[in-house]
Amino acid sequence: MKVKFILPALTEAKSPYWRPIKYSLFPPLGLATLAAYLSEEDEAVLEDEHVQTLELSDRPDLVVIQVYITNAYRAYEIADMYRKRGCFVALGGLHVTSLPEEAAPHADAIFLGPGEETFPAFLEDFRNKQPKASYFSSVRTLKHIPKVRRDLIHRSRYLVPNSIVVTRGCPHHCDFCYKDAFFEGGKSFYVQQVDDALHEIERLPGKHLYFLDDHLLGHRRFASELFEGMKGMGRLFQGAATIDSILRGDLIEQAAEAGLRSLFVGFETLNPKNLEASNKKQNLGRDYQRAIQRLHDLGIMINGSFVFGLDDDDEDVFKRTVDWAVSSGITTATFHILTPYPGTALFRRMEEEGRILTKNWDLYDTRHVVYETKKLSAEQLKRGYDWAYQAFYSWPSILKASLQHDAHKHKLKHFAYAGGWKKFEPLWNFMIKSEQLNKMRPLLEGILSKVRYDDTPLEESGYAKEKRGQKRVVDG
Ligand code: SF4
Repeated sequence: MKVKFILPALTEAKSPYWRPIKYSLFPPLGLATLAAYLSEEDEAVLEDEHVQTLELSDRPDLVVIQVYITNAYRAYEIADMYRKRGCFVALGGLHVTSLPEEAAPHADAIFLGPGEETFPAFLEDFRNKQPKASYFSSVRTLKHIPKVRRDLIHRSRYLVPNSIVVTRGCPHHCDFCYKDAFFEGGKSFYVQQVDDALHEIERLPGKHLYFLDDHLLGHRRFASELFEGMKGMGRLFQGAATIDSILRGDLIEQAAEAGLRSLFVGFETLNPKNLEASNKKQNLGRDYQRAIQRLHDLGIMINGSFVFGLDDDDEDVFKRTVDWAVSSGITTATFHILTPYPGTALFRRMEEEGRILTKNWDLYDTRHVVYETKKLSAEQLKRGYDWAYQAFYSWPSILKASLQHDAHKHKLKHFAYAGGWKKFEPLWNFMIKSEQLNKMRPLLEGILSKVRYDDTPLEESGYAKEKRGQKRVVDG
């Protein structure tokens, strides 16, 4: 059987805002995970429209398309085309799960929720020529999942081919997050067996890894055993976690010892009223500065995530947020305009209040205002969002934020990472076009190398002093 897996390009990837490097970071791991359920006799191809032109003149037996909100129209177009040609088309992903009735007319089968149970069940039905129109994931487990088909991934087309996911979902319930919609009707947070995760890590060549888990520290026992197993592997890795998990216990120290060098942290807003309204309880009353200092003391760079346009945001929110992020030494920032994704509690609330202005999903890219705002006009929100990016990534801001660190090496790493990421677009474009992104990896690994604590100036922060006893001996 010939099976084709397709990730259509997100609409924003084709807009003038497109930074090609942003869409050449990670391979479509979810599709490569599903491909693992095929049998040895099956022929599989995986195409990712972000890094290649799709080959659309073929006629596979089965086409599997991953649908996000901003590639939905493109996904439906491709699906319709293959179906006209007589191919069986299956659609799955976040958007299909949120709006199955919209996706179903474009598919022979749809998958709701995660695919580890539904895809093998579908394959069996398909081989028996009795596929159902819809598959809903009810049993949620990562036990005995087959090895991700990494052989289908063109590694040289991605900056971070070693991306990996060892958990599913997240224990929290922020009202703007897709997570609850995707995992509705079953467990919304579960983890791989530690040994399986470690084996998957061992399969990955080189040093650098990127954990794409929503919350790598979300399951404390699992994370602790994982980091224990990773000690001595010589890996450098990046991941995501919440403020409260950084502050609790010594898991973050264990992560640093295992090789954690940069962390995506959802600060989202500095305003407690907004946190409360968004059900982001895990951030409420947490000391952001203490969490930041703790990461800095461990030499971990921070990618801060911020949302603009929450109901209590006013005109000052942009400057306040950027000033805070720069003076806190945040290395990179991801700003979003609040986006009520269908299926989320936020969408339901806004729809009830009559505040959804458009259902053109192409605009749901966190760069457009798609709902009626409260204390800000839509124009102010869009202008402020654009300004925040420019201000945060200006050279003076990058320099000022770099200088917030104690260790000289951390200052340099910060400057190189933030500047390299945002200020060398022509170089990134050239490396992408010439399929040489893999040549940038040693540079990335160099920047993510350990910060030596022994070059920390005598003027240590209070927290650093307090934690000195916990610091691990670090090599050069
Ligand atoms: S912590 Fe992050 S992943 Fe978890 S529910 Fe909130 S936004 Fe979603």
